[in-house]
Amino acid sequence: MEYKLLTPGPLTTSKSVKQAMMVDHCTWDQEYKGITQEIRQKLLDLAGVTSEEYTTILMQGSGSFGVESVMGSMIGPKDHVLVCVNGAYGRRIVGMCERYNLMYSVYEVAEDEIPKASDIEKILTGDRTISAIAMVHSETTSGILNELEEIAALTKDHSVLFIVDAMSSFGGIPMDVSALSIDFLISSSNKCIQGVPGFSFVLDKREQLEQRKDFARTVSLDLYDQYETMEKDGKWRFTSPTHTVLAFYQALKELDKEGGIYQRYMRYLTNNRLLRQKMGELGYQPFITQYQGPFITSFLYPTQRAFDFQHFYQHLKQNGFVIYPGKISSVDCFRIGNIGEIYPEDIDRLVKVIENYSEVAHVS
Ligand SMILES: *Cc1c(COP(=O)(O)O)cnc(C)c1O
Repeated sequence: MEYKLLTPGPLTTSKSVKQAMMVDHCTWDQEYKGITQEIRQKLLDLAGVTSEEYTTILMQGSGSFGVESVMGSMIGPKDHVLVCVNGAYGRRIVGMCERYNLMYSVYEVAEDEIPKASDIEKILTGDRTISAIAMVHSETTSGILNELEEIAALTKDHSVLFIVDAMSSFGGIPMDVSALSIDFLISSSNKCIQGVPGFSFVLDKREQLEQRKDFARTVSLDLYDQYETMEKDGKWRFTSPTHTVLAFYQALKELDKEGGIYQRYMRYLTNNRLLRQKMGELGYQPFITQYQGPFITSFLYPTQRAFDFQHFYQHLKQNGFVIYPGKISSVDCFRIGNIGEIYPEDIDRLVKVIENYSEVAHVS
């Protein structure tokens, strides 16, 4: 049975994106390598940066592989990374620092709060060895959207590297990557660009990339090595996910057709507002009250009656929707994503299904 994925990636893709995968490509083929190069350029265009200042590197694997390629091959032995954490994805970066034995510190706030520039400034002035800040933009754990501007300004003032996991936000919200002076921005094929899973991409400031080419602690995820090969003619170092690349190429065209990032952002925002408003009318409270992002929402389990997530999930699935379990450490939540090939009429339909469920659950 066909259903809509209301999950933050993999998500519901268009028929034409799926259709684009019906071709077997050779990785050495000139046309295929040309597609890789076009994708790299297109991602720079979307970020609003020049190819003099930035380059895009595509990396096999899921989004975390892209984050790990940055943490594992761009951080030097003298670096000290400050990781800002307000959810599981921030914590995953800490896990990478730990595993690679990097010098790091953690600045953690509650999952419904955002990292504050004023706190970070104190940490930076208190410890002059900190040379990099790593943080998540849209914390998919809760759906909170972290603010980047003031923290970006600090990284500039203190000349520290700025690494941003923009996995679930890039392509779905306007971002001025150059003005934010982001050195490494990571995202993946299966989120707001609306492709299928299989690779991640890193927007890299060329200057930093060149200075950091000798720091790799990994072969497969060596970002600089991948760059050197890809920069020549679009060849990936090792086997690339050819079908995924074709789907992504198509997804980029469809992003253009929709009108670009701003138009997509408006659609996501409309979906999200509609979802939260209608769920509110049914009595479902969101976990995030301030700084809610437009991509995914965590809803608290209802307290007025017993609530069984599995039962709820099955009811929704039978009616054509798949949602996500919660990921907040302290409270029981479920999550509903509103990105992908999802429109307000889908949200309307979903809410009717949930309303229906609430009535059934109420009676029984
Ligand atoms: C999806 C996501 C990732 C990557 O997760 P994968 O399962 O490795 O693709 C990393 N960070 C954030 C914020 C995400 O939303």
